[in-house]
Parts: sequence; C-alpha cells; structure tokens
Amino acid sequence: LKLGKVNLHRVLSDIVLLQKNACEGKEVYLQQYFDPSIPPILADEALLTQLFLNLIKNAMEAVGTGGVVKVTSRVLADYAMTQKGERRARMVAIDISDNGPGIPEDVLENMFTPFFTTKSQGTGLGLAICQKIVSEHRGMIRVDSNPSRGTVFTVMLPLVQ
Ligand code: ADP
Ligand code: MG
Repeated sequence: LKLGKVNLHRVLSDIVLLQKNACEGKEVYLQQYFDPSIPPILADEALLTQLFLNLIKNAMEAVGTGGVVKVTSRVLADYAMTQKGERRARMVAIDISDNGPGIPEDVLENMFTPFFTTKSQGTGLGLAICQKIVSEHRGMIRVDSNPSRGTVFTVMLPLVQ
C-alpha cells in the first residue's frame, strides 16, 4: 500500500473522461456529481484508480445503449464503522450507479468470488480485486440492486486515517 494524499475527484474525473472516449460503439451517458467539500484522502492512488475503473466498467457493461452511469461523492458524517458503533470516523461515500437490469440473487451471492463471471469474455476478477482494495483502505463496499431501478455500488472510505 503506497499511501499519499489523493484528490479523489481528480481520480474519478480522469476515469470518467477516459471511459467516455472508450465506449464508441455503445452510447452510454456518464455523469459525475461531486461534493466539493471533500478534502484529499490518504490512499494508494493507483489502487483507487483500479477500484473505480473496475466498478465504472462493470456499470457501463451492464447498461444498454442510451444507458446512464452516475458517479457521485458525498460525506457520511459520523458513520458507525462497526456494527456496535464504538469506532466512529468521518467517511466519504462514492456511489457508482447504473440503470441496467440489476443483479439477480444468485449472482449477488457469488460476484465477489474470484473468477465468478456471467460474461462470455469476463475474467471474474474485477469485484474480487475491488473488495481487496477497499479492505486494504479500511473501507467498505456495498451493493444495492433492483431490477427496475438498476444497481448502485457504494464504496466508503475513511476521510482521516
Ligand atoms: P467480470 O466483469 O469480469 O464479469 P466482475 O468481478 O467485475 O467480473 O463482476 C462479476 C459479475 O458481477 C459480472 O459478471 C456480472 O454478472 C455482475 N455485475 C457486476 N457489476 C454489475 C452491474 N453493475 N450490473 C449488473 N451485474 C453486475
Ligand atoms: Mg468487471
């Protein structure tokens, strides 16, 4: 883990810009909504880039043409880090949401397992790597999926370490 001060919004907007140019064939709308009050965080920039690139790519692969992928940042004040809530820290949450078909129950149960994929050309490594990177940063990743609304992956990272 090579920790340094990382400008989260620069990392995210670089990925968004790169992916906007990458998806020539299918028209996908990529939108970003950032909370400007979020300060630099202590993190490994290369790993964070890999984390968000994997999630944004998955979202773009999930939607059809004309689909919308949103990248949103927000501050979670006094978020309870443990179930019991004894360790509290300010966290930043990054939501990657798409209006694709959602994730069926049997996929939800296995998608963080290495090599699990539903794609003909998939490696099944993306989410396993994401989970590892998030835990190395003492963060959390959760998913909220619904066939009518699509999928939201939320990454939560400590603001102060
Ligand atoms: P890969 O993308 O190579 O298949 P991942 O680990 O990135 O591997 O994802 C595992 C599986 O999780 C995918 O094959 C897909 O079925 C499911 N998945 C991940 N993200 C989404 C999403 N945003 N919408 C629908 N399904 C998803
Ligand atoms: Mg993937």
